[in-house]
Amino acid sequence: MSRPTIDYGIDLGTTNSTIARLNGVAVEVFRNAEGFEYTPSAVWIDKQGKLVVGRIAKEWCEREPDNAFMEFKRHMGGRHEFAFARSGRKMSPEALSAEVLKCLRADAERRGDSITSAVITVPADFTLDQCEATKRAANLAGLEHSLLLTEPVSAAQAYGFEREDEKTFWLVYDFGGGTFDAAIIQVRDGLIQTVGSGGDNELGGKNIDWAIVEQLFIPALHGRALTGFARGSAKWNGAIAKLKIQAEAAKMRLSAADATDVAIDFLCTDDRGDPVEFNYELRRADLERLAAPFIRRSINICKETLESRRLAPGHIAKIIMVGGPTLMPFLREQLSDASEGLGIPLECDVDPLTVVARGAAVFAGSQRMPDGDWKKRVKAGQYGIRLDYSPVGPDTDPPVAGIVSAEEGTSVDFTGYTIEFLNPEIRPPWRSGKIGLGPKGNFMTIVTAEKGKANTFQIELRDGTGALQGLNPARFQITVKGTGQVQITLPHGVGVALANNEVMPFFERGVAIPSMKTKELHTAVAIQKGHDGQLLRVPIVEGDKSRADRNRLIGTLTIPANNISRDVPAGSSIEVTIQIDQSRLIRTSAFIPILDEDFTDILKLESATPDANELSVGLAKAKERLTEMREKAEKAGDERAAGAIRRVDAESMVPEAERMVAAAPGDTDAGRQCQNLLTRLESSLDEAEDAMEWPLLVADARTALEEARKLIVGDADAAEDDKREFATLEREINVAIEHRVPDLLRKRTEGVRSLGIGIELRKPGLWVAFFVNMKERKSEMRDTVMADRLFVQGDRAIEDGNVPMLRTAVQQLMQLLPVSARPAAMSDVAR
Ligand code: ADP
Ligand code: MG
Repeated sequence: MSRPTIDYGIDLGTTNSTIARLNGVAVEVFRNAEGFEYTPSAVWIDKQGKLVVGRIAKEWCEREPDNAFMEFKRHMGGRHEFAFARSGRKMSPEALSAEVLKCLRADAERRGDSITSAVITVPADFTLDQCEATKRAANLAGLEHSLLLTEPVSAAQAYGFEREDEKTFWLVYDFGGGTFDAAIIQVRDGLIQTVGSGGDNELGGKNIDWAIVEQLFIPALHGRALTGFARGSAKWNGAIAKLKIQAEAAKMRLSAADATDVAIDFLCTDDRGDPVEFNYELRRADLERLAAPFIRRSINICKETLESRRLAPGHIAKIIMVGGPTLMPFLREQLSDASEGLGIPLECDVDPLTVVARGAAVFAGSQRMPDGDWKKRVKAGQYGIRLDYSPVGPDTDPPVAGIVSAEEGTSVDFTGYTIEFLNPEIRPPWRSGKIGLGPKGNFMTIVTAEKGKANTFQIELRDGTGALQGLNPARFQITVKGTGQVQITLPHGVGVALANNEVMPFFERGVAIPSMKTKELHTAVAIQKGHDGQLLRVPIVEGDKSRADRNRLIGTLTIPANNISRDVPAGSSIEVTIQIDQSRLIRTSAFIPILDEDFTDILKLESATPDANELSVGLAKAKERLTEMREKAEKAGDERAAGAIRRVDAESMVPEAERMVAAAPGDTDAGRQCQNLLTRLESSLDEAEDAMEWPLLVADARTALEEARKLIVGDADAAEDDKREFATLEREINVAIEHRVPDLLRKRTEGVRSLGIGIELRKPGLWVAFFVNMKERKSEMRDTVMADRLFVQGDRAIEDGNVPMLRTAVQQLMQLLPVSARPAAMSDVAR
């Protein structure tokens, strides 16, 4: 009999992976061939070309960094390929992840039936492309059906399952090897929901390992003949990798000891060809000093996450500890300390290294397998049944509905047939009595189940004469226990970035998924049919900041001009649809009414592999801005601004970013960490700026309001729409001022400005000025023949006083300028 529920849960970790299964009410974690409950996510190709996953592969990462790889989860969804030097084989991060999944599958299959589906966990902050890549990895590993669940929700499930009737908030604190997630979970009425989350995809135990290498081990080698010995240097790659693996092992030992010796007999050969040995005594106090800024950053993320939901630590009943580094005593002390940390009681009952896989198994047990073409599978002479019920839940009298079918192609009138459910294992044994089927084989009833166990129901089907019929499946299970389902919600808002750098929100943070929404937008540029290189970009962003570029770009819906059937002038309507499935995967489509055409699945996913040069420019700018803000904050004596700047210092954001920039050219991972840090730094500076600029922001809003008011009042035929929009904006600006919400105030001020610009743009004078400017820039234009034609058209429009025609000419001329000369916006759509 095929399993009715998914049952298997997999934590596909950056560092370690685990597979678990729900057996009735108990979770079983599978041990690998070596007897461990978790398997390092590492892949090695040996001298015979055989692929090896796990601990041995992790060790080979040290000895042969060209033939073994780990931490590829960090590259999921990216273009990076891992080249195994000896075998010449190149593998994508998802192909490598698939090998880890296959290995886990094999470990579990040694104990039971074949596994074709699983719930796989991903970090809460995984981007769309990373989620898609995870699904592909599952497919490659032979898991036909996979469901993604975020790690914190999964961890909460591991606890939620064993506790009942909790009506409260929990904080899941997940400090892994490479990612940090903080999630606020609410348990209410049998539902576990994420109500807020934050995190850093580039913060984990690995940062601590690198700090040990860079700040203790490498300086200890000073004075040796090791020219250019630094992270990111291709020449010393092997030696640096050895130091890093040893740093990690020493760090782990220090969770239980005060000091530990690190000894590497052969590190490398030096410049002169002599062997170099490495010895170091690492003390817990040194480790704590190095780990402190990372722990601090994690605590700050927790605080911000709580603040964003207007919650104080006092509202949180407990912190659920997840991830290897939470075994560090110092981390636990810091986190539970009332002044340094959060002062919330810690919960570590379930092993922090397997809690995510355990929770995934619990969730998997509540997820039914897809029915697919169930009728096709009905055997000749038998009947099939499709059941609709919740496999796990708190209810002892759960409803069960379903439909019975004969072999495909035969039609049976089920009038007179009966179905009966039996639960023989409970005391007293229970039976439903015969329930009549509808003519199409349909029925609905309530069954009786016992609390705290997996109830196996037998099903008996009888025909009109009362004769027992063959039925497949003839049994199913319902487990009655604690909290049942998980309501999956969006950890961040999702919307479209507009040309003016605002965001058009589609989904607010916290909405239940799956979900789908369509909104009408307008094109901000013109595109001409068949014009090579021209395109319409609709960027999709994830995040909750009002400035589009402070959010994460997850993909861009791109409509190239050579795919359209006629010209699309600026200002044309475009209906954008965003669809989010249960695994948080996103599909988009656009409908352009004047083309009467749908554009689907043309989302170009962003893969952020930042360029080292860009990063160093970005860092230099951020440092400049920090200096400026620091001075301003001191002068203004603004407490909020000073707080934001203190955070930058306490987390050592700048020195960390500097180290990452230096390593970025030879280490794409460092590049990503750096980019993340920069976004975090810029956001802190935004906050400081907002605090100090509040009076200016208010004054600016008032000026913008007055300017727009004048335009509307001074314009005898101002459109009713404009007047109405103005009134709404004015009301919202007042609300934003009253409640001191800088983001909203900025958004609405820009709204009022663009309303004003819109009115101005309808006046002819402005377009004449633009037109003159275009004529001056003729030499820069890509297509001079086309430009000349447009100049003629524009001149004629001016003569005729035809403003719309002049506007169209100018807009098309703008398109002829090189892309770099176009407005810096990343989006071609507007409200
Ligand atoms: P991931 O979710 O990224 O796979 P894990 O939860 O498996 O990560 O944690 C891996 C991290 O935990 C590594 O950085 C490892 O060094 C660290 N770790 C494991 N055990 C300990 C320990 N006893 N003390 C400190 N850190 C540990
Ligand atoms: Mg993890």
